[in-house]
Amino acid sequence: MPLPMPFNPVSHVENRRLVEAAYGTGKLEAWERSHIHECQICQSVFYVLVVQVMGLDGSIAKEA
Ligand SMILES: [Zn+2]
Repeated sequence: MPLPMPFNPVSHVENRRLVEAAYGTGKLEAWERSHIHECQICQSVFYVLVVQVMGLDGSIAKEA
């Protein structure tokens, strides 16, 4: 068994769910939060989305 924990690498959090969480319009399920915590791929995607939403300086981006 190469995997040390019950972790299904196929079941990444959907991008749509990450977008909703980044925009604050959706709430991640417990397994989604824990998955992001453990998955560098989802962490990277979520980080990019948060930066896009919040702006690089951490402020909310204005809609032009
Ligand atoms: Zn993932």
